[in-house]
Amino acid sequence: MSSVHNKLIILTAPSGSGKTSITRFLINKYPQLSFSISATSRSPRAGEKNGVDYYFMSVEEFRKKIDEKGFIEWEIVYEGKYYGTLKSELERIWNEGKVPMLDIDVQGAVHVQQKFAGDCLSIFVEPPSVEELKRRLSSRGSETPESLATRINKASYELSFNHHFTKTILNDDLDKACAETEQVIKEFLGW
Ligand code: 5GP
Repeated sequence: MSSVHNKLIILTAPSGSGKTSITRFLINKYPQLSFSISATSRSPRAGEKNGVDYYFMSVEEFRKKIDEKGFIEWEIVYEGKYYGTLKSELERIWNEGKVPMLDIDVQGAVHVQQKFAGDCLSIFVEPPSVEELKRRLSSRGSETPESLATRINKASYELSFNHHFTKTILNDDLDKACAETEQVIKEFLGW
């Protein structure tokens, strides 16, 4: 068994904080890290592929997986939309001798952290301000006024969770935030 078996890294933050950009940077740089593909019942956005960005499922398929105890954690992150980390996904990555990187919401991150305590590095990516978060989410062009308002409301609440995690990284400059995250991960994995 590889020495990284059961280790995992969580990047968590309110939507729009830049955690996905940081995750992509690290995965492209280090082949030993592997993106944990979550399951979701939301519809794919333009350009998103099943089995790459998410495992897209119907609500029925998702609920069936819950009943089969197929998830490490799952949440209804936004109104009626399920998101979850599959046990089979973490096993797939560990079996390749790699470390999974989970890009998940704050509640999910709290649950995974409790389950994997000593084997888990959890990083909270903090946006400079709620105003900046709003600007970033608006510029994505993928949000309706309603979904934008939902994400901003949730973000304000999630920002109060920053002290629950191993490290907090301020993302006021993406290159700097990537470099800091890289350093924290290298220390955790003893690289
Ligand atoms: P999006 O719809 O923008 O892809 O993701 C919405 C939110 O759901 C993001 O904060 C994302 O990190 C989170 N998310 C994605 N996958 C999972 C998961 O497996 N579990 C949980 N709890 N949250 C997830």
